[in-house]
Amino acid sequence: MIILENISKHYQKEGSQIVHKVLNDITFTINQDDSIAIVGPSGCGKSTLLNMIGTLDFPTAGMVKYDGVDISKLNDKQLSELRNQRIGFVFQMHHLLPQLRVIENVILPVLPYASKQELKKSTQKAEELLIQVGLKDHINQFPGQLSGGECQRVAVVRALINKPDIILADEPTGSLDQKSAEQIGNLLVEIQQERGIAIIVVTHSKQLADKMKTKFSLINGKLEQYKQ
Ligand code: ADP
Ligand code: MG
Repeated sequence: MIILENISKHYQKEGSQIVHKVLNDITFTINQDDSIAIVGPSGCGKSTLLNMIGTLDFPTAGMVKYDGVDISKLNDKQLSELRNQRIGFVFQMHHLLPQLRVIENVILPVLPYASKQELKKSTQKAEELLIQVGLKDHINQFPGQLSGGECQRVAVVRALINKPDIILADEPTGSLDQKSAEQIGNLLVEIQQERGIAIIVVTHSKQLADKMKTKFSLINGKLEQYKQ
C-alpha cells in the first residue's frame, strides 16, 4: 500500500558544513493489516519519519509511494486530497477546536469535499462512532467540557471519519494518565483489527508499543525490528 524507498532526511545548519542525518536510507513497506510501533529516544527522528509517511514533509533523498504513485509527483491539491481521504492523523495534543462541539469537530474533515447528503450521512456515522467509543453523553458538548482522554478519543474518531487506509499516531498517549492511555491503545488495536485500517504509532510507552504486531526502534537513522 505505502512504500518508502531509500528515504533519507538530512538537515544542514545555515553556514555550517555539518550535515545532520536524521533518517538514513530507510526502505520500508506498509500493508493494510499492519500495526506498527516505532520507538526511540527524543530527537531521533520519529516524527520526521511519520511526517514523511503522512506526506506532511518530504525526504532529502528517496521516494514515498502510495499504491505505486510517487507522491513527489502530486500537486498540492492532489496531496491534500490524498491526506484527507487516505490518512488519519492523531497527535499528542488532540487539536480539537474549542469553539466547535464534539460532533462538529469530528465531521470537520468531511466538510471540504462533501455534498449536503454526504454530510448528513457522515454526521450519523460520527454519532455512531462517538457512541462506540463511549462518548454518547458528550456528542454535543465542547472540548473544554471533556477530559484529556475523552478529547483524545474524539481525535481518534475524527481521524476515522473519512475511512482512511492508515492511521498515523504521534505519541497519542503522551499527555494522558495511565488509564486513558490504556483506553486509547486498545481503541487503536480495535480499529486495526475490526476495520482493517493500518496503524503506525510512534511512542515512548512500552505498554502501547507492545500492543502492536510489529515493533521497530529508530536508531542512527535506521529502523531495526525488535521482539521484546
Ligand atoms: P523525535 O520525534 O524522535 O523526537 P524529530 O523527528 O522531531 O524527533 O526530530 C529529529 C531531529 O531532526 C532532531 O534532532 C531535530 O532537531 C531535527 N529537526 C527536525 N526538524 C528540523 C528542521 N526543520 N530543521 C533542522 N532540524 C530539524
Ligand atoms: Mg516527535
